[in-house]
Order: sequence, then C-alpha cells, then structure tokens
Amino acid sequence: MAAPFDLRFDCGRICLDLMATTGRRAERLAGPEHLAAWLVGSGVVPGSTQLGAVDRGWVVRFRMLRELLRRVVHDELRGRAAEADLHLLNAAATAAVPPARAVRTEDGVLVRAFTGPPDCTGLLAAVARDAIGMLTDAVARGQLRQCEGESCSLVYLDTSRGRRRRWCSSEVCGNRERVARHRRRATRRADGAVAEAKVQAQAQAVGGASVAGVR
Ligand SMILES: [Zn+2]
Repeated sequence: MAAPFDLRFDCGRICLDLMATTGRRAERLAGPEHLAAWLVGSGVVPGSTQLGAVDRGWVVRFRMLRELLRRVVHDELRGRAAEADLHLLNAAATAAVPPARAVRTEDGVLVRAFTGPPDCTGLLAAVARDAIGMLTDAVARGQLRQCEGESCSLVYLDTSRGRRRRWCSSEVCGNRERVARHRRRATRRADGAVAEAKVQAQAQAVGGASVAGVR
C-alpha cells in the first residue's frame, strides 16, 4: 500500500526519511495529520500511539530539525558539518525518548507500545539520536549516497549488493532518468533521419543539375 501524503520510508534511516519529506519544492509535512502519518510510518511511534496532541507547533519543530539534519548530512557528505550545527543536533538528542513496552495483543503477537502519549521534544530526540547513530557509525557513513537524479538532493543508505544503487528510488528518479535517456535517443534518431533526408535531397538536386547540364 502506498504511504499517505506521498510520504517515503525507503531511505534506510529514520533521520533520512525525515529529510525526504521535502525536495523538488514539495512539502510533505504540510500539517499535523501529515506529521502524525510520518511518525507512524517511519516507526518513530508504534501504530497504536495517541497522536491527538500533534499540532502546527510540532510541525514547525520537526521541519526545523529536518533543516538541521539536511545541513549536517550534506555538509558531512561534502566535508565537515559546522560545529554549531553538531551542537544543535546533540542538544536535540538529550531529551528523554518515550519508553516503549512489549505488549501482547489478543491474537498473541507482541507489539511495541508507549506507556503514554509522547511529547514532541521526546520524539525529536528519537530522530536526532538516529542521526547521531548513523553519522558516528563508520559502516552507515560509508553507505551514505546522494541521489544522482536530476535536481534530486535526497540522501539514502546504499545497502545494495555491489553498492550500485544510483537513485533514491528506482520508481521515481530511476524512471525519470530512463525516460529522459529514451527521449534523448529518440531525438538523436529523429535528427539523424532529418540529416539523411537533407543529404538525399541535395544529391537529387546535384543529380538533376548534372543531367540538365548534359542536355
Ligand atoms: Zn532521487
């Protein structure tokens, strides 16, 4: 089933999935219901969590964390994140993350559940800690890639065999690239056909002229 509001959860880390809620001028954390769907879809909160408290204020704070993550991750990919940004990330991670319990459902399955409704600061801390875990893990850092798609700045973990994943999503950016390549080939073929027709027309004109000259 497709995630609601075009949300994506295929970047390989919760912090990267939060960064993927914007791009190509799209804003997928448009309102509280979008953020609530993201919190459940990303696994930051269990599906049974009461999210009635999520409001515009939460959206603004999650967008701010997203912007901070975007700066830190892209700066680390290119070189080094600014100390001031690392300080902000570390500060965001210090709040207590909501404690989770294993609860047995009626059909005997164990599921994760929070003991009570979470607060915004605790959930922001959960995402910030995920980013700290990723950035300080040599294996994860080595798998960080920026999508090669035109005008796509999404970052994902390349866990594919042979490390040959080129796009954030083969359905989105990979498909766009394949369509563009096909279009370029078709244009080249059409240009070739036009050039050939011109050569033929010139040859005919020259042939006609030489026949007329003989006559
Ligand atoms: Zn992409």
